[in-house]
Amino acid sequence: MALNDLVKNALEIGKAMGVTLKYLTQTPVTVEYPNEPVSLYPRFRGRHELRRYENGMERCIGCMLCEAACPTGAIYVDAAENDPANPTSPGERYAKVYEINLLRCVFCGDCEEACPTEAIVLGHEFAMANYDRHDFILNKQTLLNPGMPNVVIRPD
Ligand code: SF4
Ligand code: SF4
Repeated sequence: MALNDLVKNALEIGKAMGVTLKYLTQTPVTVEYPNEPVSLYPRFRGRHELRRYENGMERCIGCMLCEAACPTGAIYVDAAENDPANPTSPGERYAKVYEINLLRCVFCGDCEEACPTEAIVLGHEFAMANYDRHDFILNKQTLLNPGMPNVVIRPD
């Protein structure tokens, strides 16, 4: 090997080591998930949640606008008349059945946009792995028990 080649190779190795040393002192951009929490943007769209009013009443009035807006047919709503003596929601109707099929959902947020009462929102839960495909169909009871209540709804 010629002397020129030796010098050239040594310079290349020096350059590569320089890059290594530069990044050695920097904080890694990756995190040790799940041991370390992952920071999410406020507008992150994760698993859905059905919300209630402060008095405990369900926000959902069974209007089915979310079902109509969903581009993938992931939502199924079956509405029923409220019992005037013991209403479930402030409207005339409420969702007797409310289901979301996460295997169809593309997390576009159209359901959230369409909802007139801000009942359905996309929360921050993203760890949704499961063993049984039936477990990907979220029923109303599951959706009414949000994991993260501080979801930003329709931020500017
Ligand atoms: S986020 Fe989009 S795809 Fe998922 S249920 Fe809502 S409207 Fe349908
Ligand atoms: S979640 Fe909203 S849009 Fe969907 S049925 Fe209930 S009130 Fe209507």
